[in-house]
Amino acid sequence: MLVILSAPSGCGKDTVFKELKKTRADVCSSVSATTRTPRAGEIDGQHYYFKTEAQFKDMIKSGELLEYVKYDKSYYGTPISEINRITGQGKICFLIIEVRGAESVMKKVPGCVSVFLMPPSIEILKSRLEKRNKDSAQTISSRMEIAKEEIKCTKGYKYVIENNELEKAVKELNEILDNELAARNK
Ligand code: 5GP
Repeated sequence: MLVILSAPSGCGKDTVFKELKKTRADVCSSVSATTRTPRAGEIDGQHYYFKTEAQFKDMIKSGELLEYVKYDKSYYGTPISEINRITGQGKICFLIIEVRGAESVMKKVPGCVSVFLMPPSIEILKSRLEKRNKDSAQTISSRMEIAKEEIKCTKGYKYVIENNELEKAVKELNEILDNELAARNK
């Protein structure tokens, strides 16, 4: 099973996934390729496969990516090898990706499950991005502009979860997975 999890930057999708992983062993998230500069503490092959633009373009050319986008000046893409690695272990493969890449996966993999995490408000999102202190003021401002557009793009998603409270959002996501698995095993 392939699950797309999208949310604006700073909405807490990585935290929600981390919590979910504590409660179930059957989920794993795909490691994307990116040309973005690593943030402090990010490890190549664990958080992302960090690539030069030339390396990323080679991956596109050789058909290694299921989807890719240019987001805030950097490229991001899902390696097909990641999906094969995770599904090969019999696990649910999570793609934690932005909305344009998500739309492309929905078209290519019609049976995928898509979930959008909605931030409580645009103001809260901005204050979260500022508090996590990982990005420059310029990056935060451009990500806020992207976020405003992204929250208008939830129509194609099968599920929208309000991320007001971490525990509640994780519970809802757990229920979605259980229901989807049950429907597939019928
Ligand atoms: P960040 O730079 O904050 O790690 O990620 C920026 C955005 O890119 C986030 O919304 C993240 O989910 C998204 N993203 C990460 N990997 C991929 C990918 O492989 N494909 C697409 N389309 N988006 C991605």
